[in-house]
Amino acid sequence: MKPANARLAALGTTIFTVMSALAAEHDAINLGQGFPDTDGPEDLLDEAARALREGPNQYPPMPGLPELRAAVAAHDRRFYDLPATPAQVVVTCGATEAIAACLMALLDPGDEIVLIEPLYDTYLPMVRALGAIPRLVRLDPPDWALPRAALAAAFGPRTKAILLNSPMNPTGKLFTRAELEFVAELLARHDAYAICDEVYEHIVFDGLRHIPLMTLPGMAERTLRIGSAGKTFSMTGWKVGYVTAPAALAPIVAKAHQNLTFATAPNLQRAVALGLAKDAAYFAGLAAALQGKRDRLAGGLAALGMDVLACHGSYFVTADFRPLGFAGDDVAFCRHITETARVTAVPVTAFYDGADPPRTYARFAFCKQDAVLDEAVARLARRFKPGQ
Ligand code: PMP
Ligand code: GLN
Repeated sequence: MKPANARLAALGTTIFTVMSALAAEHDAINLGQGFPDTDGPEDLLDEAARALREGPNQYPPMPGLPELRAAVAAHDRRFYDLPATPAQVVVTCGATEAIAACLMALLDPGDEIVLIEPLYDTYLPMVRALGAIPRLVRLDPPDWALPRAALAAAFGPRTKAILLNSPMNPTGKLFTRAELEFVAELLARHDAYAICDEVYEHIVFDGLRHIPLMTLPGMAERTLRIGSAGKTFSMTGWKVGYVTAPAALAPIVAKAHQNLTFATAPNLQRAVALGLAKDAAYFAGLAAALQGKRDRLAGGLAALGMDVLACHGSYFVTADFRPLGFAGDDVAFCRHITETARVTAVPVTAFYDGADPPRTYARFAFCKQDAVLDEAVARLARRFKPGQ
């Protein structure tokens, strides 16, 4: 038999699936894969159920339901003052498809794209599948600051785009305006595009504000901005994503989407359109609730002695486990705590591709019920601080 696609054959199963399976096997509290353990707003569930019952349950328009495209454009105007129109919006099956479609829309074989490590697990395989060349720039703990000289050096005459994730998974980093201005200057100088994975746009803490790169001067025509209803409405299984693209690029993204999935469930699109029109209190409440959970888990891990890094947004805190006295690497640590404490986390090395990643950090998801977070900390305490 001829072999299947060599790259995919060599690719491991995603760390999120691996760790969730390990958590299930050991009946562990799963703080690995990032999903809330309660569903999102009741009115969205009601609307999705109503739309499912009333139909139509047939193919929605390929680029998305008109009301959802209008709602995304209105959302972008409302929150960021972006002059977006519905024609600039493409609705996808989650941000995962949006990322793939944007990469397909921009990259030809041989094009270079700048990626920032630690990076979300679908980025590199998709870039490589398209025959494009990744140029990796690395952020390091504990502060995950943008190394400006290295970033500038990664850009060159063949650079087509950068893929930027802010608020960032797994670091919890929020790119600052100064960092975004530096990126914008490079994009203008090299005539390159930005794909901005902003799925955690509404999960930002401490009174900070998420700044879409697209809002910076000159960036609206070179930026494709990605959001996810999974994150914004705490229904990660819905897989409704959206891209806001420059008017000239939206039809190209739509052509990628027509070949990938063509459309996503119409009832869910209807419910998400309702959600995006929610009042400011909803969005503030989401961030406030998750900030409380961040503090709860980060405080608990710090009390155990772990070196918990700052988190300004996303579902995740990262922590250095060396103070617990664990001598192995992060993969060993995450397996160890799953098996012995019955708490699961994700090793941060899974988000690095290059040599010598930092090996002593674990990522913990805090998008869980308070009692679950408390029990996770109590279990870790029984393992690492017995007698206290
Ligand atoms: N990008 C990042 C940074 C993510 O963390 C995730 C999922 N948590 C996604 C994309 C995928 O989002 P979706 O579930 O909407 O496909
Ligand atoms: N984005 C989620 C995380 O970082 C996982 C998504 C997935 O499992 N595909 O945990």
